[in-house]
Amino acid sequence: MYDVCIVGGGVSGLAASIFTARAGLDTLVIDGGESILARNASLENYPGFPDGVDARQYLRLSREQAENAGAAFELGRVTSIEPVTERDLDDGFVLETKGGEPLEARRVVAASWSDSDYLVPLDVGRIQRGSKHFVSVDQGGRTAVDGIYAAGRLADEPHQAIVAAGHGAKVGLAVIHDSDANFYHDWVAPEGYFTGRGREVPPCCEEIDDAERRERDERARKRLLEAFDEPLDEEPTMHPSVEGD
Ligand SMILES: Cc1cc2nc3c(=O)[nH]c(=O)nc-3n(C[C@H](O)[C@H](O)[C@H](O)COP(=O)(O)OP(=O)(O)OC[C@H]3O[C@@H](n4cnc5c(N)ncnc54)[C@H](O)[C@@H]3O)c2cc1C
Repeated sequence: MYDVCIVGGGVSGLAASIFTARAGLDTLVIDGGESILARNASLENYPGFPDGVDARQYLRLSREQAENAGAAFELGRVTSIEPVTERDLDDGFVLETKGGEPLEARRVVAASWSDSDYLVPLDVGRIQRGSKHFVSVDQGGRTAVDGIYAAGRLADEPHQAIVAAGHGAKVGLAVIHDSDANFYHDWVAPEGYFTGRGREVPPCCEEIDDAERRERDERARKRLLEAFDEPLDEEPTMHPSVEGD
């Protein structure tokens, strides 16, 4: 049984998985194939990229970051979720996928804009607006069903990538807090930041010395230079109802 299964490997799901995996939770991301951000032509309002960034490259690098953190990925569509046992939601949930084997997870994050039909049997509190369904959540993305969370656009957050990513991170943190993971903050601090004040390094924080900092910086710069050396040979996905597509 996974500690957490994240349904949807788009912007919010990837951010959630980076946090849960880095906190040591056994994390699986099941992704239906394509984030809606793959339709973007140039991502120009995501902080950190002064002249914008190729949205598909951003998605690839975020996924790589989640994999580096230890998250596992499966391609597939979740079709239904049910509790393992009716009497105790702490026993976790069974997720059925289209054409795949059922999976079990203690907690589930629905980050699957725009599909939430698989949540219907659980009665999490879906709201219909026009042709779309949203899921009602509290501040941490918790739904009416213990152990089930929703993140990103599906949780009625504004339709912007940075908001979806931030919300995914916040929901990931709620999952961590609700589990028995020993967690303070996910921080990397310079050597002495805590210990120099006679404090222990708190759980999920790390102190690194200058040599290690330079080594990590070198590795990070190398990877980014390599990723952005050539333009990505992928076109934005067109809206399915545009004629001729
Ligand atoms: C044309 C266009 C341009 C845009 N441009 C910008 C922009 O410039 N700046 C900006 O800030 N935002 C932009 N956005 C909005 C941005 O893409 C979204 O707000 C953001 O992607 C929402 O993130 P999310 O994680 O909620 O959903 P998504 O990123 O769409 O991720 C949802 C994931 O869930 C998966 N999924 C769905 N159903 C299932 C299922 N049953 N089982 C498993 N997986 C499933 C999907 O395959 C997808 O990968 C644009 C959107 C569009 C359409």
